[in-house]
Amino acid sequence: MTPADPCERAPAYVRGIAPYQPGKPITELAREMGLEEANIVKLASNENPLGISPRARAAIEAALPELARYPDGFDLARALSRKLGVAMDRIVLGNGSNDVLEMVGGAFLAPGRSSVYSQHAFAVYPLATQSRGARGIVVPAKAYGHDLPAMLKAIEPETRVVFIANPNNPTGTLLTGTEIEAFLRAAPTDVVVVIDEAYNEYLPAAARYDSLQWLARHRNLVITRTFSKAYGLAGLRVGYALCDPSIADLLNRVRQPFNVNNLALVAAIAALDDEPFLRKSHELNLAGLAQLTGGFKRLGLAWIPSFANFVTVEIPREAGASRAGIVYQQLLRAGVIVRPVAGYALPDHLRVTVGLPEENERFLTALLAAALGKP
Ligand code: PMP
Repeated sequence: MTPADPCERAPAYVRGIAPYQPGKPITELAREMGLEEANIVKLASNENPLGISPRARAAIEAALPELARYPDGFDLARALSRKLGVAMDRIVLGNGSNDVLEMVGGAFLAPGRSSVYSQHAFAVYPLATQSRGARGIVVPAKAYGHDLPAMLKAIEPETRVVFIANPNNPTGTLLTGTEIEAFLRAAPTDVVVVIDEAYNEYLPAAARYDSLQWLARHRNLVITRTFSKAYGLAGLRVGYALCDPSIADLLNRVRQPFNVNNLALVAAIAALDDEPFLRKSHELNLAGLAQLTGGFKRLGLAWIPSFANFVTVEIPREAGASRAGIVYQQLLRAGVIVRPVAGYALPDHLRVTVGLPEENERFLTALLAAALGKP
């Protein structure tokens, strides 16, 4: 008789989870292909090509002697409160904004309940749903973006959360403030609406909208943001939620007591005030998007117009067969890591993060070498 297996006793909804697929790390590709790490360009995880803000780095160095102490998020919450004009009891800090998305799942989802999100939307929404035993309702995308009227219709009596990524990852699509506000007005008030603004800081001036003003009007609104992208702190893991104090109270009940570490806290406070770094990140990104899409145009490739720090390009099929996976491998051999997005129901696309100008050029040259320029 085979001994009983504890894994078989794990809930079926946990065993059914497809794990998150991260971008391939530089170290792993170097090992696999025998390449020099210094010659590898990673444009796979929407990281900031400028690295860490100098002020954040100085703050980290100064905080090293304090690492024997447990962290206290008060100072970062206060700094955010002052910067954003949002009361402190409306702010919940997370170990990355991923953590606060999980907290929303932990506080509102359970077996028998459901969440609503879009086709091609960020992979953590199904994870935060399935890990609670809840059901994910996937609404077909419209022009690769969120179809808000259809998402509204998809809400069922059991639905407790709607996840909206704006801009969305991996498509880079953006909803206008007017569209989101109309959704908030129409959505049932007992359904939590998460507006995930991980890429908010990259929005060009003309595309910006003021989501913070909606907090006072919509008790069910949760806005999530992160220090991982424009602030350059992906490796430290720090993000936050802005919401009604009553929701913040619930999120805090499922939050790990010391979920954001000391170095992340001090770095985030310093990065928040590093306006020159933020501006540089923003400008570099807009120029990089133009560089990449200009390259795609020259190569005769279609792409999904992006409002974030990445762009998703279509790799034409050959005799009906998808080539995105083959091109991904060819790029790897050339030392360029991008992100396949077949897991997001986009089997003919690759997502590339905006890098430094020379990194973008390396990618475009490798893409050309993958013989994609032919019409
Ligand atoms: N939301 C979206 C839309 C994202 O793309 C990401 C990062 N991939 C996150 C949230 C989570 O980022 P982090 O946990 O680093 O804040």
